[in-house]
Amino acid sequence: MSIDPPQTSLSRLAANSQVAPASVQNEAQIKAPLVASTPLQYVPGIGPNRVELFAKLGIRRAIDLLFLFPRSYQDIAPYQSITELESGFRASVIGQVVDMDQRVSFEGRSTVGVLLAIEGGGYVRCVWYNQPFRRQQFTLGMRVVATGVAKSTGISFEMRHPETTILAADQPLPEAKPLPIYSLTDGLQQRHVAAAVSAALDGLVTTMEEALPESIRLAANNPKDSIEKAGEAVNRPPLLGITEALKAIHQPNSIEEANEARHRFIFQELFVYQLALAMRRHRLKHDKPAPKIEATPMIHTRILKRFPFELTRDQLRAIDDVRADMAQDVPMNRLVQGDVGSGKTVIAQYAMLNAVANKQQAALMAPTELLARQHFTRLSQQLSGSQVMIELLVGSISQRERTELLQRIAIGTVDIVVGTQSLLSEHVQFESLGLVVIDEQHKFGVEQRASLRESRIVPHYLVLSATPIPRTIAMTVFGDLDVSILKDKPPGRATVHTYLGSTHQQSKWWEFVVRQVKSGRQAYVVTPRVESDPATEVLGAEQIYEQLLNGPLAGLRLDLLHGRMDGIEKQSKLDAFTAGRTQVLVATTVVEVGIDVPNATLMTILDADRLGLAQLHQLRGRVSRGSYPGYVCVFAKQGVAPEENVRLSVLASTDDGFRLAEQDLQMRGPGDLLGTKQIGLPPLRIADLVRDAQTLNFSRGLAQELIDRDPNLEMAEHALLKRQVTQRHGAVVTLGDVG
Ligand code: ADP
Ligand code: MG
Repeated sequence: MSIDPPQTSLSRLAANSQVAPASVQNEAQIKAPLVASTPLQYVPGIGPNRVELFAKLGIRRAIDLLFLFPRSYQDIAPYQSITELESGFRASVIGQVVDMDQRVSFEGRSTVGVLLAIEGGGYVRCVWYNQPFRRQQFTLGMRVVATGVAKSTGISFEMRHPETTILAADQPLPEAKPLPIYSLTDGLQQRHVAAAVSAALDGLVTTMEEALPESIRLAANNPKDSIEKAGEAVNRPPLLGITEALKAIHQPNSIEEANEARHRFIFQELFVYQLALAMRRHRLKHDKPAPKIEATPMIHTRILKRFPFELTRDQLRAIDDVRADMAQDVPMNRLVQGDVGSGKTVIAQYAMLNAVANKQQAALMAPTELLARQHFTRLSQQLSGSQVMIELLVGSISQRERTELLQRIAIGTVDIVVGTQSLLSEHVQFESLGLVVIDEQHKFGVEQRASLRESRIVPHYLVLSATPIPRTIAMTVFGDLDVSILKDKPPGRATVHTYLGSTHQQSKWWEFVVRQVKSGRQAYVVTPRVESDPATEVLGAEQIYEQLLNGPLAGLRLDLLHGRMDGIEKQSKLDAFTAGRTQVLVATTVVEVGIDVPNATLMTILDADRLGLAQLHQLRGRVSRGSYPGYVCVFAKQGVAPEENVRLSVLASTDDGFRLAEQDLQMRGPGDLLGTKQIGLPPLRIADLVRDAQTLNFSRGLAQELIDRDPNLEMAEHALLKRQVTQRHGAVVTLGDVG
């Protein structure tokens, strides 16, 4: 950015010559011309009070004002009719000159009056004091636009010293200009923001440097796939340059112009993020080698034999992907995406056994201790009778056991370590870590994933996600990963029936649950809270457990499980349920992910309106794991019919996780989709992952192209882009291997 914008000398001149234009009122501006980093209090027209208000919007420097984009635009009619005028407010009117007068007082002061007959009816008198030349500007019959503060005179209106434009007789009226609407904070008004932005534009806009080279702006406005589709070259001009775009987004002449400007900034925002991801992909592949882990035909067959069932076509395909990835010295970065119950664990098991067969260690991380234990138990069963050494590293093991285990991991006598995030946080040393599997990836973000990278040689990565994620989200949150998708489910799965229960039917539902349990099945009862909340009348798991035990489910073997219990207690309760000793498990959403008890076929979800769609679908996944049909009944809070809740209706309408995810995304936006934490979503100012899906898709391709050509953005023309990438998404790019 230039330190000395061209306006400098002009404003100095103006200041010295005593005829300063109205906009130069602030001494600060005269002394120091605006630069990007000028603190807000030196921007003309912003007083100390407003500086604080702007700070609440994150605006501290002059340049921040330029990037405070309008939230929307309002079409304002350019001219008001007489009935729309309000005394004391600024307005524009259009009318014909029907009378003129000029008076000179004893002291020699002149008054010029011009009476306009306003189109549509009524009169406005324009008045000028001490400007006798005004008289000559107008003739009777002229069409004039007058803009100024209208003052009521009782019978009509008067404007003192209005700005006037004379229109040719048949000149069409100018179009309405869109008025930008900014997101405000209490005490700040639209006109304050507009004035501040306008001052910043005046001072800075011509000094802005362009981050997007012309070639990119041209490509961005001429998407290749549409060329192919149309069968002819689309030749649109490049996206607006930075100066034009800033002017047009804040002070557009038409809504089309505003949209053009918005498009540029939406593209830029998505493109910069995709560049960060593309740089990350590139680095993951080329920074450090990974061990080559080859599944020879013998190893391959031996591993597949360990599964007690035929693998599905999608499972075999994903295994092929993994096999090919691991055989290279470029680290694998693969996401296996599949709906609940699609059998993702099989892929992880294959990859781990492949690593072990090649004398490499493998680590498996799960988001909860319960899930880690379940994986550990399953793997141990599956590997019983083999030489493979598998251990569990979780928070609840004793310090002595832990120390001993860490040593064995470090010297390589442990082949597979199963654990929670503690595998990340503690500096667990491996002798030769060849593979890291992360289960239920949607609970971790890009940045967390980053921190597992070792020094010299990096392991292969396999991540599993049970949240079927719409493509647009996958491209952002998991944009650095290759993807295998499991669409088909293992054969023999019975369907799940989902019902929307109303409170007055609850007793009928409980009767059904009792009958099913007596015939041998098991049931979950899920509720969002541990304790009751008097404010919202949501009952907690503890109270519900008591009520059911002494009411509709009396006589059944009930138990209670929630997140406040310690790891050992949770585990023993889950063990009792898995073994069938507990018939009905009343639980909070701790059972949301991964728990696999095929005999449990009934699920009641209370206060379901408090849970997200993805979460509800996950929960439902608990009862679709065996050959018996599953039954899910969701109840909204007391007094609310579940069908009034759109989310619950959508849940009942389809069992396809991918379709649900798309719908959820449409309804609630990407933040909620991934749970309350919003982990891993980039901060977006103007782009919208749902609305701008096409631009996102396209910017991804362009970003990849650019990074292929200039992997570290070292070319001079990319310097500014690089700065934006590191400023906004540094953590994504650095892979977290520093520190
Ligand atoms: P998720 O994808 O939700 O993690 P899991 O890997 O836990 O699913 O698998 C769900 C259940 O399906 C498990 O009991 C598993 O043993 C079983 N399963 C997985 N693949 C198959 C298959 N090809 N045929 C039959 N059962 C399978
Ligand atoms: Mg799973």
